[in-house]
This record gives sequence, structure tokens and C-alpha cells, in this order.
Amino acid sequence: MSSEAERARLVGARAWRGESEWRLVLRRLHDGQVRADPLHRFWVGVQAVFNDLDRACYFERRFFNEHPSNHLSPSFGDNIRRAGSSPLPLPGLFSRTSSESCSEKLPNRTSHAPLFEQSGRNGHRYDGVVPELPEMQALSERLDAAFGGARIERVMPLQFSALKTVAPMYDTLNGQRLTSVGRRGKFLVMELERARVLVHLSQGGRIDIEKPSKTTRAKGSVVRFVFAKSGLLVKEFGTERKAAWWVLAPGEEGPLAALGPEPDSKEFADLIRTGADARRVHTMLRDQHTVAGIGRGYSDDILHRARLSPYASLASLSEEQREMLLASVQEVLAEGLLEERKRTGGLPAKVGDHWIVHGKYGTPCPRCGADLRRVSYESHEVTYCPECQTGGKILADRRMSRLIK
Ligand SMILES: [Zn+2]
Repeated sequence: MSSEAERARLVGARAWRGESEWRLVLRRLHDGQVRADPLHRFWVGVQAVFNDLDRACYFERRFFNEHPSNHLSPSFGDNIRRAGSSPLPLPGLFSRTSSESCSEKLPNRTSHAPLFEQSGRNGHRYDGVVPELPEMQALSERLDAAFGGARIERVMPLQFSALKTVAPMYDTLNGQRLTSVGRRGKFLVMELERARVLVHLSQGGRIDIEKPSKTTRAKGSVVRFVFAKSGLLVKEFGTERKAAWWVLAPGEEGPLAALGPEPDSKEFADLIRTGADARRVHTMLRDQHTVAGIGRGYSDDILHRARLSPYASLASLSEEQREMLLASVQEVLAEGLLEERKRTGGLPAKVGDHWIVHGKYGTPCPRCGADLRRVSYESHEVTYCPECQTGGKILADRRMSRLIK
């Protein structure tokens, strides 16, 4: 996917995430405050999010049903195209002819369903949140308690491209005892009698504990480990297929070899205390080669706790700020782990429900009450408090201000 399309997809994904966002976008469109270019991006995003023309059309219709008086005509896609915006990165929505009509009802598809419709355990919707160290650590503890010492009767690869190794063969795992489940970075590490299995959930990967083990192959299934009384199913929400697993010889590192130190290590403490990394701390914390296990969610909370600007570089920090940063990393991850340890079972569709500031832009800062702000990037967004972190300065959020003025 081109970066333009990816950007649009993310804008779209964010726009559809909640009803309030949906209303906001509708209102902005209705008010005519969106120029052709952002509108075009918006609909490209819609198409990318819904993955096909029918779904995009359905939402186009919904838009006009709710706003029949909108000054944009139902053929506004063509108007936008004529308005001379840049070439569309994706075929489809704007290239349909007038003889093609949109479906009246949302197509009831069994495949390629958009991420927003997929429901997880207890009906919680998958929210596109990447599990980070606290989620994965607590999950590994639950899996260790549930499966540690049990014998794997059978391994069922359910999506072959997710298996990243060819030797040892996955079927050599059949009959082996799972001695322990641990974590390194964001990887689950399953130690077997004569092998080691790694699982990386990436963004959409989640885990079900099945009692008893099922034999079905639900949409998004990645791999199932069948035990005598239960099963461990790795599955993946969303449309991307990034969840992966590796079968390694005992002790073999595989992708773990590329990981930086754990956040609670002396090596990481030394890096924060003495490092001259010129990158932004936010970027550095999310780089798995630099430190393993932290992602976009907890890095927002860490910087908020440390009262550091999302734009601060490690090299620019005073000794005091470095200590504050280090303490914040430990505290925020430890608090996250405490919350995660309250869960039972596998890993549900919706995680990230206990963040302090991440994803909470527009709500009051829990420390000072100022409105939390955000800066949007291609692959993520950063939430911060201007009062606590940037000396009152509002950081430019160019992309969002172009979409919604
Ligand atoms: Zn604040």
C-alpha cells in the first residue's frame, strides 16, 4: 500500500472509530468546512478502510440519508475528481460509472470484513491497539498458568504465511510438553521439551483459550495448539496479516536476537542516563532495537508522566529529566502490568483500556485539567498535555488540521 493510501486508511480508521468521531466528521462535511482535497482523502480513507466499493458506497449513502440537505451532490466524488486533486492512489470509489449503483444495504460478507465490525470476546470491539509489554507479560503469565507442563497433542497451522520458519517442522511439536510460557519484548516465548516457539501478535493478534479445544477455523485464525483439555488459539483481527509465529530449536534466538534490552534492565538505565541519542525520546522508546516492549500507547503515558515534550530528544535532556524519564518508564509499565494482571483468559479484542493519556485527546489532563492534544503521524498519533509537557505550546498537527478544520 502506498504511503498516501496508508495515511488515508489511518485517517479513515480514526474517523470511523467511534460514533462521536463519525458525527464530528459528518458535521464538518455538512458545514462545508472541508475543502476538496481533504474530502477526497477522506473518501479514499473510507474506501481503504472498508476495503471495497460496496461498503464505501453504503457509508456514502448513510451520509446523504442523514444529511439530505447537504450542499454536496450525490455525485460529489466526481466533483472532487474534477476539482483537480492529486491522482487517486486506489481504484474504485471514484471510478465507478453512473450506471453502477451502490447496494442499499451493507453487504453481508463473510470475508474481508472491516476491522470495526469484528467483535471479540464479550462483544468488545477490536480497537487496533497493539499489545505492549504489560499486556504481553500478563498474558504470558496466564498462559503459563493455564498450559505450563501440559503436553501439546497437535499443532494446527491455520494460516500458513504466519509461520516464519521451515525447520524444525511445526509437526515436530506434536507430543512435546510445554514447559513454560514467558515473554521477551512483545514476543510470547513458549519453551517446549525439544523446541522453542515464538508468537508475535503485532497489532491485530489476540489469543483465545478454548475449553475444550475447538477444531473450527474461524476467520483470522493463525494457529491453534491443541492440548488434552483445552486449546490455545492465536487469531488476528483486522485486514492486515502480520501476526506471526516461529518454531525454533531450543535456545535459538530467532527474531529475539534483534531486540534491544528490556526496560527494567541496567543496560536500558545506562542508555537513558548517559545516551546521546539525537532522536526524539518518543521514537526511541518505540524502537524495539533500542528497548524492547514499549509501543505508541505506553510511550505517550511515559512522556506525560515525565513531563517531557513528545518532541524532546534524549540528547537534550538534563540529568534530572533523564532520571524522571527512567522512573516514568518503570512506573507506567509497572502500573500497566498491575492492571493487566486483573484480566483472565486469553487476550481480548479490546485492550488499552487503562491508559492515562494515550488516545484520550480532547479530554481533560488527569493531572492539570487542560485539554489533551494530539499530533498525528502516518502510523500513529501522539497524545500530550500542553500544560504539563510543552510549556503551554500547542504542537502543529498538520494532517488533522487539513482534514478537519
Ligand atoms: Zn496536564
